[in-house]
Amino acid sequence: MSDKKLATVAVRTGIESDTQFNAVVPPIYLTSTYGFPQLGELPQYDYSRSGNPTRNMLAEALAELEGGAGAIVTNCGTAAINLLVSALLGPGDLVVAPHDCYGGTYRLFNTRAEKGDFQVRFVDQTNPQAVAEALALKPKLVWVETPSNPLLRIVDIAELCAAADKVGALVAVDNTFLSPILQQPLALGANFVVHSTTKYINGHSDVLGGVLVAKSEEQAEHLAWWANCIGATGAPFDAYLTLRGLRTLAPRMRMHEENSAQILAFLQTQPLVGQIYHPSQPSHPGHEIALQQQKGFGAMLSFEIAGSQAQLETFVRELTCFSLAESLGGTESLICHPASMTHRAMSDEAQAAAGLKPSLLRLSVGLEDPADLIADLAQAFQKAAEVAA
Ligand SMILES: *Cc1c(COP(=O)(O)O)cnc(C)c1O
Repeated sequence: MSDKKLATVAVRTGIESDTQFNAVVPPIYLTSTYGFPQLGELPQYDYSRSGNPTRNMLAEALAELEGGAGAIVTNCGTAAINLLVSALLGPGDLVVAPHDCYGGTYRLFNTRAEKGDFQVRFVDQTNPQAVAEALALKPKLVWVETPSNPLLRIVDIAELCAAADKVGALVAVDNTFLSPILQQPLALGANFVVHSTTKYINGHSDVLGGVLVAKSEEQAEHLAWWANCIGATGAPFDAYLTLRGLRTLAPRMRMHEENSAQILAFLQTQPLVGQIYHPSQPSHPGHEIALQQQKGFGAMLSFEIAGSQAQLETFVRELTCFSLAESLGGTESLICHPASMTHRAMSDEAQAAAGLKPSLLRLSVGLEDPADLIADLAQAFQKAAEVAA
């Protein structure tokens, strides 16, 4: 572990490590297999499912950025989540997860629990009573996602980790929305961090990937064994591209945040904007916790349209700098309608229970010039205002 700052680790990991030609940028190793020096003598790498120099370099960078002992780079974020529960949980073991966790996580935990692989209990982790009741059941694992999607609810990581530790539960945090630049759960007491590197870490919307970082050496080794066993590891080419994206993570996060702060200020002046969800707002539940445990508020924000469905549809259709798409964290700005897109698998009742209204829109603010983004939003609001309410 070096004492370098995060931006430096992201930029310099693996630079000038090539021993053959002293290439400044580390080469990509696309091989699936490696020669044995001689019969009975194991090489450093023998097969790329178990180990690959390009993938290992990305894993090393991500482990260091999160302050973990080791990391496993997987083929997508979902595979990293599945790896952890596969390695950790058996029948009879309980995982406690947030009721508003990422839809794919919800489906994975639920489906595997129905199959009898383990047990799951979804709770509102912002409700201390519900958390205390769930912890009393002595779970093996507590799953945390903060800020949550799409309402940006905040969970106090340090407090939950301390409470989990008292009942012998391990804690895993899905840190996809903030990246290690803005939040470091292991330093707050978590045992594992998961990312969909598809999002901010790669940052260019052109690779699917994931990572599972373990705080302890022992857990890292255990998880690496399991990743090879179940075939969860990522491809070298994807790892190469993700390491390339990672180089600019720190300045990208800064710009994503600056742009989203400007957009937030603009949204606050708009008559067609209802409730806004962003942890930077003093009225946002968990704002004080976010100030403590985050190094920034992130660039995801949601808001309700204070108008008709027709106005919402016009607004979304007229935008030209925000693509109507799922996913997040890329250089390009995206807009999503959670009720009909990312969260459509939830019933109307489940959406209502989670506080997710049909008038809600979610923005992933990109790196375009913020003046263009604001002008685009302004003209779309104008067109929406012309539609009968
Ligand atoms: C996208 C996402 C995932 C799943 O990652 P994939 O790379 O799509 O498999 C998990 N958690 C969060 C918070 C996400 O946004």
